[in-house]
Amino acid sequence: MKTVVLKFGGTSVGNIERIKKVCKIIASYKKKKRRVIVISSAMSGVTNELVKKSRLISNNFDKAEYDALVSTGEQASCALIAGRLNHIGFKSRSWMSWQLPIQTEGPYSSSRIKKIAIKELNNYLKSGGIPIITGFQGINSKFRLTTIGRSGSDATAIMIAKFIKADECIIYTDVEGVFTTDPRQYKKAKKITKIFYDEMLEMASLGSKVMQPTSVQDAKLNNINIEVKSSFISKPGTLISDSKKTCSDQIITGISSTKNDAKITIVGVKDKPGVAASIFKPLSKNLINVDMVVQNISQNGQDTDLTFTIKADDLKKTEKLIKQNKKISYKKLSFDKNVSKVSIIGVGMITSPGITYRMFQSLASKKINILVISTSEIKISVLISSNSVKKAVGVLHKEFKLD
Ligand code: ASP
Ligand code: MG
Repeated sequence: MKTVVLKFGGTSVGNIERIKKVCKIIASYKKKKRRVIVISSAMSGVTNELVKKSRLISNNFDKAEYDALVSTGEQASCALIAGRLNHIGFKSRSWMSWQLPIQTEGPYSSSRIKKIAIKELNNYLKSGGIPIITGFQGINSKFRLTTIGRSGSDATAIMIAKFIKADECIIYTDVEGVFTTDPRQYKKAKKITKIFYDEMLEMASLGSKVMQPTSVQDAKLNNINIEVKSSFISKPGTLISDSKKTCSDQIITGISSTKNDAKITIVGVKDKPGVAASIFKPLSKNLINVDMVVQNISQNGQDTDLTFTIKADDLKKTEKLIKQNKKISYKKLSFDKNVSKVSIIGVGMITSPGITYRMFQSLASKKINILVISTSEIKISVLISSNSVKKAVGVLHKEFKLD
């Protein structure tokens, strides 16, 4: 008998009607004679409300209590699902993370799942029951509740699939799957039928909100195929795995764009060993994520310009840290808040020459100025003015035959 893990996101269980609908989906797998395990997020909005409450209590809310608080949303949704399944005639019960347990390690709010005990779960499955397990939460070695990062229920589902050796892991959400680019921004976006883990990882890290990046990494490491699909309409979704039909002549799989980036240029810093390290050390200590970095070749062998990007939210703090930094000297500091990163992603670019040229040429044809460029084996990113993002995505979507 095949075992399937079904994960439902916050909007899929967002109200009572939707929970009833979700239970029909669960029942349909049971009718197909599957062993079914369900992971649920909190009802949409609930976790955010809890976060807000913690801030009203204290702006320095205890980290362990924070996790104890924000993980409660999942308890409610799981009990509601199990209750409804009971009502329509199925054997089902809820399982909190600590009842299994789901053991985690690492700091509160961003723990990672280390181990999941499955013996009881297996017995329950054998007896025909449908376990409904809380996503997002776990316990640490001190038996305190932990959480694994916002949107972490995806990762819970993938780790449950791993430990229980499930045949399938299906992520039910409010979109039909993974799209070539954001369908709300660009109408010609198409649903991707199959995508590699690495491509999905880039898409997720670069702003596609469909899946949490850590969960994609977990899936890749453990070789768990995932299907992402909608809980609202019954249509095939996107399969994320390490194999893809080779018939496709598509080089680029998707295009992503970010919002709220900021660019900082330090003009006239000394060109000598250790300068970049001196600049970035205080930033890393303050958990400021630096993304793209370019350093110009110095003209006179003495000083150079260094440009890098961060999230716009971190701009003030970064400015302060650079100005306070006694280890560096420079001539001028400049900032640009209205910049965005547009990236093309696809494993096909490893073997196809000329992709970089085609990207730059397309942008040039629309008179879009490129501020910073960065590349990896499977993606090319450019930093451009935020006003041009829509135009850039449009021209690239067309150039790489995604329309
Ligand atoms: N409820 C948690 C959150 O909103 C976890 C999740 O949705 O996956 O972040
Ligand atoms: Mg969520």
